[in-house]
Amino acid sequence: MFPKKATAELCVTIDLTSIMHKNFKNIDRVTYGRGSFAQLSQTIAPVRSENNNYFVFIVDHYFKGKPLSAKLQNEPKDLVYYIDVDVYEPTTDQVDNLRNDILAKKGLPSGVVGIGGGSVMDIAKALSLMLTNEGSSTLYQGLNLVKKPGIYHLGVPTISGTGAEVSMTAVLTGPEKKLGLKCDWTVFNQVILDPELIETVPNDWWFYTGMDTYIHCIESHNGIRNNAFSLAYGDQALQLCREIYLGEKAGQTAYNNDKLMVASLMGGLSLTYSEVGVCHAISYGLSKILGTRHCFANCVIFQHLQDIYPLGVKEFKEMIKKHKIELPQNLSKSWNEETISKMANVSYNLPFMWHHALGDNYKEIATMDYIKDLFKRL
Ligand code: NAD
Ligand code: ZN
Repeated sequence: MFPKKATAELCVTIDLTSIMHKNFKNIDRVTYGRGSFAQLSQTIAPVRSENNNYFVFIVDHYFKGKPLSAKLQNEPKDLVYYIDVDVYEPTTDQVDNLRNDILAKKGLPSGVVGIGGGSVMDIAKALSLMLTNEGSSTLYQGLNLVKKPGIYHLGVPTISGTGAEVSMTAVLTGPEKKLGLKCDWTVFNQVILDPELIETVPNDWWFYTGMDTYIHCIESHNGIRNNAFSLAYGDQALQLCREIYLGEKAGQTAYNNDKLMVASLMGGLSLTYSEVGVCHAISYGLSKILGTRHCFANCVIFQHLQDIYPLGVKEFKEMIKKHKIELPQNLSKSWNEETISKMANVSYNLPFMWHHALGDNYKEIATMDYIKDLFKRL
């Protein structure tokens, strides 16, 4: 849970009429396949001559002492940080402190390698930028606020679904906002997708993070920003999700994990070319104020959005049933009006999502009262 003192609302002032066709930056290179993680050292070898000739490894603490920690392929001069992502989602302080520590110890590294889930991906992406940009990362939360390119960064996902491996944002929670450092330079230079690495994910998290992909696609499709490009990626990712979670061979198998890694990437691309919607807008409020984890929060919310995404929610409930997942009910009974208002305020200030989901007259529909009522459904 993020400390509860961080409750100020998101401040987003965006002129929706100024949006033109987006010009996206994709990952430079992708390696995919079982065992491909073993190619890490040869992949980064050409970059080692840059800056102070060493790499920083940011690794999910889950792997400390596990077989993967003996296969990192780091050199003695490299810095390895194991990060506990269970205490809270990545924060601006965390990234600033890491940056300060790294620069004080060894100066500018050649690159950053992030090995873990969405949390570690985001820390690695933000760190790459903050190693070359002065001041606190709070200064750069938003779109295109980063002033200089970061250093080379490579992502190795170990849990699939958020699409953080492909997105152009590094989501950080700061004292005032939960908002990404979003720009072209945020995108990884290289990603290594090795399905063997997600095999140890506990079944419930395998479900929640996979459902993040599913919800990305449903939300990307159901809104005014969808287009042939986003639909193509989203359709393919949805098809894979249906096979993985509802098909005859549904379940956490090696074969399905091969597909899930690809679905996560494609779901991320679908929403990059479109937008997320109501579930994510509500989810940001829940995570910011109560610290609920992103993918779990989405599942808790999505089950109640049958009037907005009828087919998606129906299918989602079939998946819940098939995998015997129990989501909490009646959460809002223990929330007072002040808490609901704070969460609604965070959600209200995400106009891109409401506009996409509800159309041009979204301001008339997505009032504070409407959003509070959505929270009261939970
Ligand atoms: P996570 O990185 O928070 O990890 C969830 C849990 O899984 C942790 O306990 C972790 O230790 C564990 N874990 C990771 N790999 C494992 C493995 N192979 N075996 C066993 N356990 C493993 O999970 P996540 O859901 O991928 O990421 C959530 C974060 O992603 C949030 O901070 C959210 O804000 C962010 N996010 C970012 C984007 C983006 O585009 N940048 C999009 C969505 C979410
Ligand atoms: Zn998501």
